[in-house]
Amino acid sequence: GSSQSALNFGAGPAKLPREVLTEVQSELLSYQNSGMSLMEMSHRSKEYSKINKSAQDLIRELLNVPDNYRILFIQGGGLGAFAAVAMNFMGATGTADYAVTGTWSSKAAKEAEKYGSVNLVFPKADKPGKIPDQSTWTLNPNASYFYYCDNETVDGVEFPYIPDTNGVPIVTDMSSNIMTRKFDVSKFGCIFGGAQKNIGPAGAVVVIVREDLLGKAMKICPTVFNFTQVSKENSVLNTPSTFSVYVMEKVLQWIKRNDGIEGMEKQSQRKSGVLYETIANSNTFYSCPIDQNCQSRINIPFRVGGPQGNEDLEEKFLQEAEKRYMYQLKGHRSVGGIRASLYNATSYEDVVLLVRLMNEFQIQHQK
Ligand code: PLP
Repeated sequence: GSSQSALNFGAGPAKLPREVLTEVQSELLSYQNSGMSLMEMSHRSKEYSKINKSAQDLIRELLNVPDNYRILFIQGGGLGAFAAVAMNFMGATGTADYAVTGTWSSKAAKEAEKYGSVNLVFPKADKPGKIPDQSTWTLNPNASYFYYCDNETVDGVEFPYIPDTNGVPIVTDMSSNIMTRKFDVSKFGCIFGGAQKNIGPAGAVVVIVREDLLGKAMKICPTVFNFTQVSKENSVLNTPSTFSVYVMEKVLQWIKRNDGIEGMEKQSQRKSGVLYETIANSNTFYSCPIDQNCQSRINIPFRVGGPQGNEDLEEKFLQEAEKRYMYQLKGHRSVGGIRASLYNATSYEDVVLLVRLMNEFQIQHQK
């Protein structure tokens, strides 16, 4: 029924914690007895200023962000950040290194080519699913920065380590796995992620940037993308996506209540573990094309009916899933098959239901 909450395995915009949405609902028409929605308030009001500060403080606390990093909110989505990164940092030497491991890092490299010279540290593979050994990469010691996508949402490839770049600042896209595992922020020059998967509604992009990398933006960089200027104005340089930041702040509180990043990481290991186990035990009825060492904990693509996939069976699988209120399991149009996205708001119990469907479907359809 419409009031039952769906088992939403979508890649993004993605499921949000019900608790948070209920809280939003309860104050939607009148935020803190003001008679106004937060959506209707000035971004310079004391209410929004508090939210803006609290959201930044929570990110700093949850991710253990050192003092020499600024936390910003910009707009323009992940795609906007691809351009912003290049315009903020590439001016240093005019070149940057990119590791292309899937769809999103490929698009980021393409975007960066507009602003300077891009060196791919290993050739782009025909089929994603592997990260070549670091010893084979051709890093440019003169690069302004080294870029990679920590978790490829479409392809299901997640970095199992932080690359070693010999001092070249590392920039990473964590749009789909930010707040899902602990990592050492101090290893990075800049981290960014769109809100719409693990931390809130679409609209805001979180940028965490090391202070010494500021002040080097290209002249052509639009003001709204200039990290130095946005930072100077504490992310209210112009009207931010206030509603997105407001909900994000609540999601961050929710993460904190649920044992913080450690809690999220533990859950994500359990959730992805039981799903990969089901695939591994299916005797190739289900198969995941990604190398074991870089299989994503967050976005899990798999084929049904053999390693090449059987499109009829996959269609049936999706229909059967919908009968059980499981939605948005269709793989990205460029990859096909099934993709289960297991963001923070997806519970272990949700995944157990998916696994039950997989087991029952296999018994019914295996020849
Ligand atoms: N980077 C990653 C890892 C993504 O998953 C996405 C979107 O799904 C993007 C970038 C692009 O984000 P946006 O659609 O907000 O531009």
